[in-house]
Amino acid sequence: MDHDIFTTKEMEDILQVVGHIYRTIICVDLTDGSCHYLQDDDLAIRNVLENRNPKMDERIGRLDSCGFVYADDTAEFVRFFNIDNIRKKLDSGRKYMSLTYRRMRNGIYRWTTVEIMPSKYYGPDYQMVLVCVRDMNDEHQKQLDREAKLSEQERQLVGDKTVLVVDDSELQRTTICYFLEKHYRTIEKENGQEALDYLREHSTDISVIILDVHMPVMDGYGFLKEFQKDELLKMIPVLVLTGDNVPEEEASCLKAGATDFVAKPFKPEVLLSRIGWAIDLHEKTVMLNVLRIDSMTGCYNRDYFMHMAEHLLNRYPDEEFDMLCTHVVNLPNINEQYGVKQGEAILRYVANNYDKDDLNHSVFGRLDDATFAQMVPHSVGVGKKLFASQSDGTHEFLQVKQGLPPFMLKYGIYESVDHSVPVRVMCDRALMALNKIKNVYKQKINFYDDNIRMYALKKQQILEGMEDAVTKRQFQVWYQPKHNIFTGELVGAEALVRWIHPSYGFLSPGEFIPVFEENGFVTHMDYYVWEEACAAIQRWRKQGLSTVPVSINISRKDFLYFHDMLILKPLIEKYGLETSDLHIEVTESAYMDNPEIVIKNVNRLHSEGFVVELDDFGTGYSSLNMFCHMNIDVVKLDMSFIRQERSDQNDKMMHYIINMCKNLGLDVLSEGAETEEQRQRLISMGCDYVQGYYYSKPLPEKEFIDYLSKHS
Ligand code: C2E
Ligand code: MG
Ligand code: MG
Repeated sequence: MDHDIFTTKEMEDILQVVGHIYRTIICVDLTDGSCHYLQDDDLAIRNVLENRNPKMDERIGRLDSCGFVYADDTAEFVRFFNIDNIRKKLDSGRKYMSLTYRRMRNGIYRWTTVEIMPSKYYGPDYQMVLVCVRDMNDEHQKQLDREAKLSEQERQLVGDKTVLVVDDSELQRTTICYFLEKHYRTIEKENGQEALDYLREHSTDISVIILDVHMPVMDGYGFLKEFQKDELLKMIPVLVLTGDNVPEEEASCLKAGATDFVAKPFKPEVLLSRIGWAIDLHEKTVMLNVLRIDSMTGCYNRDYFMHMAEHLLNRYPDEEFDMLCTHVVNLPNINEQYGVKQGEAILRYVANNYDKDDLNHSVFGRLDDATFAQMVPHSVGVGKKLFASQSDGTHEFLQVKQGLPPFMLKYGIYESVDHSVPVRVMCDRALMALNKIKNVYKQKINFYDDNIRMYALKKQQILEGMEDAVTKRQFQVWYQPKHNIFTGELVGAEALVRWIHPSYGFLSPGEFIPVFEENGFVTHMDYYVWEEACAAIQRWRKQGLSTVPVSINISRKDFLYFHDMLILKPLIEKYGLETSDLHIEVTESAYMDNPEIVIKNVNRLHSEGFVVELDDFGTGYSSLNMFCHMNIDVVKLDMSFIRQERSDQNDKMMHYIINMCKNLGLDVLSEGAETEEQRQRLISMGCDYVQGYYYSKPLPEKEFIDYLSKHS
């Protein structure tokens, strides 16, 4: 065996310093596993190190048969002495490895600790390590007894709180964890970066962080700097381990955001009591924060935002403030498509990137899943800034560099809030503006104004009054004539609803139908209108008038509510009508919403003998394919066609569409012709029928009866 593996000087040093602590001291050359015994011999270690080639099980068997290492500890013992493993750990910069196991001595198994430390010249060409064994029995046994005595409750307490120990020295970490393990769970990280990475995933699991100042990769200061940027993380207390007698280090750590410090070498009792104090403080803060912080984004939650905004208004009663609501469009879709983590990352992005121009006079918080609110001085001009960013041609979706999926934000702004209304109402007003543009393509910002307020008031009244409208017969059905464009003959009429509202008077359908479509009431209203129309035709007949077919409108919601539209046939029978007396208008957008149901129903109605008209053609983006699937009889061109600026191009396009429909065997009616010039154009393009002010506006029943008698 080569005696020069450690320098003589090194060996003398070793023996002098540690010779009386360790029973066995062995120099091991990791390149070949050869051992040189400086003090005593250890058969088990010799076996495991020198017999490197035999298979692992054989080695374990050999050890077992030697009887030196307790059977339960053998596997771990062998793993610990795996030379590749030792080398890997030392190469990664470790200065110390240890294992406690049971070893036979004088006929009984005793707790023993083996420690491995590299020679101070350790490197790729010189892989000498020192393996030292010492008897730990009394100390270790005492600890085991103590642990055994811990009541179940105490055990639970141990598992309850976790201390994150961040230190590059393994010896230091092991020592700290050793002191803490009876009281806390511990997690070890080797540098600031590793700790940050861990915390970003597990911030809520950690009660306190013990941080070394000097570490490779990211030191304590670097860690504190990053840590402070995160609203959630910075709530966790950090105890910094400072060098002995370096008061300036203590001061700079506290300045960097540490909660407290413990000077090295520390006394275990001091460390424990400081940890206890820090955790106590942390828990109180967490409890407070649960009441005010949104745990996902770190900003104020809804209630606390309201509270702080109120506070701000009280504090600056003369200042002009704006309330801004920011909404992440279609968050559930983002969660579905990219995963909840990405959705959360977007929310955190929004929570971190609000307008910070006047932080002292503004508050920011999260109102609900996808909506944030900010109360900010009017002088900051958030509205103008956002408006400028919108009008510079920015893309509909916001693409952010930080690996987030594309997303879209929409803003509702209530400028110069009225200090006398509650903050809740201020938010509602900004939200009303926001809601109006939620489905409007490319409009990102909307300002609350009197129109929105009036609209909201009206909407409320509409909702409150809708049932009365049916029972008190406030809905009226008006009829708009349809004419043959060439002969001028009256060919039909469309039944259009109007509401004579007790407070607002005459309301046109555009004002209340969208509200009824939203809440489903439209189905009740429609049935009312259909029945009124059928009853009217029956009345007219009884008066001896020759009637024309009347078209009724079917809302997209009706298809879902009136299963299979089987009700129309009984309805006409009830009034002694034929299917030819009633035409059905289905809008193109209903088809787009729910093609299958619409196709099925339209085809059924058609087969029952009803004439089906495709309403508002050209406003949606449906494919021409629908003509192949649906048995339609008439296409009603939306009035936007004839309204568009006259140009050869536009006329050609209309001509083409009309031709196409006719080739498919469909009649074409144009809505909205008001002038002779428009009528002539339609004639030149081959359109057959017209419904428009040129002939007549929609007429109340009485006037329509006159119209009917004149045109029959
Ligand atoms: P629509 O079915 O496309 O009805 C045609 C609309 O165009 C009517 O508006 C009519 O007054 C208007 N109009 C017709 N010719 C002209 C014209 O030359 N110039 C102008 N400026 N307008 C013209 P109205 O009555 O306001 O109805 C709007 C929409 O409300 C209807 O569009 C229809 O979609 C819906 N609607 C009306 N009554 C009912 C109903 O009883 N049930 C359902 N579900 N929807 C209805
Ligand atoms: Mg219609
Ligand atoms: Mg229409």
